[in-house]
Amino acid sequence: MKEWISRFFHPKARLVDRLPPLSGRVVENEPMGRKTWFGVGGPASVYIEPADVSDLSMLIRFLPDEPLTVLGAGSNVLIRDGGIPGITVHLGKPFASVHVDGDKIICGAAASVMEVARVAERAKLSGFEFLSGIPGSVGGAIRMNAGAFKQSMSDRLVSILVMMANGEVTEIDPREMDIFEYRQCYLPNDWIFLEAVMQGVPVDDVDQIRNRMAEYRRKREESQPQGVRTAGSTFKNPDGLMAWKLIENAGLRGARVGGAVVSDKHANFLINTGNATAKDIETLGEKIREKVRQTQGVTLEWEVRKLGVDKG
Ligand SMILES: Cc1cc2nc3c(=O)[nH]c(=O)nc-3n(C[C@H](O)[C@H](O)[C@H](O)COP(=O)(O)OP(=O)(O)OC[C@H]3O[C@@H](n4cnc5c(N)ncnc54)[C@H](O)[C@@H]3O)c2cc1C
Repeated sequence: MKEWISRFFHPKARLVDRLPPLSGRVVENEPMGRKTWFGVGGPASVYIEPADVSDLSMLIRFLPDEPLTVLGAGSNVLIRDGGIPGITVHLGKPFASVHVDGDKIICGAAASVMEVARVAERAKLSGFEFLSGIPGSVGGAIRMNAGAFKQSMSDRLVSILVMMANGEVTEIDPREMDIFEYRQCYLPNDWIFLEAVMQGVPVDDVDQIRNRMAEYRRKREESQPQGVRTAGSTFKNPDGLMAWKLIENAGLRGARVGGAVVSDKHANFLINTGNATAKDIETLGEKIREKVRQTQGVTLEWEVRKLGVDKG
């Protein structure tokens, strides 16, 4: 601790020198492109995978004023080309457990929601089938209130363990609070989800679950591009409207900026064809918003979260 204090107060201390003694992984200038589905973006100034809850709590308590970004599985983010200043936290393996407790599933925030769906299937618990095609983590899915086929995370959550901005951990019962809307969670952006308890519906016949999953998979394969670098739906569906339809009506299917293109198969999906920059993707997205506004009077709202800064 003494050593940390002298590092912290050194006049030339960099952010990485001012970190408290952590047991987890700490990397300076960690490239972020490989960690996101879009495959673009500059480095995180300081990237941290905490070893456990107390590591994370110490980090937050010791550096309360440092900008902090949380990255899940990177399937709904566009990290800008200048990278992410401050601290980027990614919850890894120590936070990825999934287990069944009666008719509930207890999952760490880093667990993949697809794994949650698989565990639920094995336990003959229905209600998680919609998660089977969503490539996110539990934490990211709570923040985004991820959903599909008219169901979303908020339908299943009975308890969320969060670390608040002061480093303390608290448990929330989302059924008692009005915190979710379509692709939106109103808990403060600087709170970090650690664990969730989700309610399942026991069934006798596992085929019921398997058939529903197969049906959802078929529908996705029919309507969405497969095996591409994308973050899924780029814009939220405005009330009673479909974003993909508005984009098609604006004549933008296949539109391109640099290496970024509007999918032919699903116009609300933007694709990095291989050499796109984050700037290409964001510019294409803004072009879409402008054209949809001009042609149909609707302002599309980004569903994809833009993180970090432009290249200077
Ligand atoms: C091919 C494809 C298909 C998709 N299909 C769907 C779909 O059907 N339905 C749907 O809703 N989405 C879909 N998505 C989008 C995405 O998978 C979901 O939004 C997912 O829930 C994001 O989770 P993530 O772990 O990747 O979060 P990230 O993309 O890493 O982060 C998303 C947001 O969550 C925050 N966050 C991440 N972890 C935590 C945490 N532990 N605590 C607090 N905040 C956190 C981040 O700061 C960020 O603001 C799709 C994406 C792709 C690429």
